[in-house]
Amino acid sequence: MKQTDRTDGRENASWESGVRRVVPYTPGEQPKRPGIIKLNTNECPYPPSPRVKRLAAEFETDVLRLYPDPEASLLVKSIAERFHVGEDQVFVGVGSDDVLAMVFLTFFNTGRPILFPDITYSFYDVWANLFGIPFSRPALDENFRLVKEDYLTENGGIVIANPNAPTGISEPLSVIEEIAAGNPGSLVIIDEAYVDFGGTSALPLVEKYENLLVVQTFSKSRAMAGMRIGFAIGSPKAIGYLRDVKFSFNSYTMDAPTIAWGAASMADEAYFQETVGKVVDTREYLKKELSSLGFSFPDSRTNFVFASHERVPAKELFEALKEAGIYVRYFPGERTGNYLRITVGTKEQTEALLSFLREYLKEGKKNA
Ligand SMILES: *Cc1c(COP(=O)(O)O)cnc(C)c1O
Repeated sequence: MKQTDRTDGRENASWESGVRRVVPYTPGEQPKRPGIIKLNTNECPYPPSPRVKRLAAEFETDVLRLYPDPEASLLVKSIAERFHVGEDQVFVGVGSDDVLAMVFLTFFNTGRPILFPDITYSFYDVWANLFGIPFSRPALDENFRLVKEDYLTENGGIVIANPNAPTGISEPLSVIEEIAAGNPGSLVIIDEAYVDFGGTSALPLVEKYENLLVVQTFSKSRAMAGMRIGFAIGSPKAIGYLRDVKFSFNSYTMDAPTIAWGAASMADEAYFQETVGKVVDTREYLKKELSSLGFSFPDSRTNFVFASHERVPAKELFEALKEAGIYVRYFPGERTGNYLRITVGTKEQTEALLSFLREYLKEGKKNA
């Protein structure tokens, strides 16, 4: 039937009236420009475990004929062993972004607003909008600290990044526990994307609180952002609900090489400790040098520093750095617009950043 033949009175309905319209998340730039210093998306400056390289070299493409293991058992087992939890307490996904999206879809269905801070990972409000979940964003205090009382009110769920991004601040476990204990009626997610760089994990609390889920990623401390692996650890009951939704959506999200290489990476504890140790040492050096250049920042427990200069506006520095081929992240906005989020790179990258800043800031004429 031609559209013009319709006689049911729907001739004027546009196909676009049924579109789910969303404003997508804006990821940090992945510039193609060669030779740049990339300190804008919190990737690890070191390669993944050499065990991954070995497996990649030996990879037998014949396995690609077959569907991958929908349970990603090898990977789940490696995570369960590393964290001393049951395999029924682990859920894996294609990056923690995938895990978090599944968690929102599974648990935030009460119609009551979910809660997360005004300054935090900017994907949370995107998922809430995508899934039609109402939300409210209590303000962090003037030092960017979490106000725990704001999370002890009626809500439909809670998501807290700890350490937080882009501030780098780690809240003590006692605050996280009070929030989990004070909300038996909702699911509480702790997004621990940066915990390995010096935060305190809420993992020990999952045995005590069935409503608590801890989410981590291979993208930062495990140097595998390009592979896309994230995971949640929680009570067998919560993980069971999450799996039911995942298997109602797409059973085969994680490919065979990812499952094998991810498991190899998780098993290489010595390499992981060494890499994280180097990043933490460089971070402490970066903090010291930035301070002496007139920057201030919250105490970072992550692989980035959220820094503001006493004299020169962040936007100006951001643009000058970019012109020099040094990419950092800038978040316009009332409370964040005078800060740069600088990823901790290698020693050499950090030196290059610092020499540029030393030169730029010493010219004196800049906003003097
Ligand atoms: C990087 C990041 C993620 C997402 O990481 P994936 O690469 O999707 O695993 C999630 N939460 C926070 C706070 C992050 O910074």
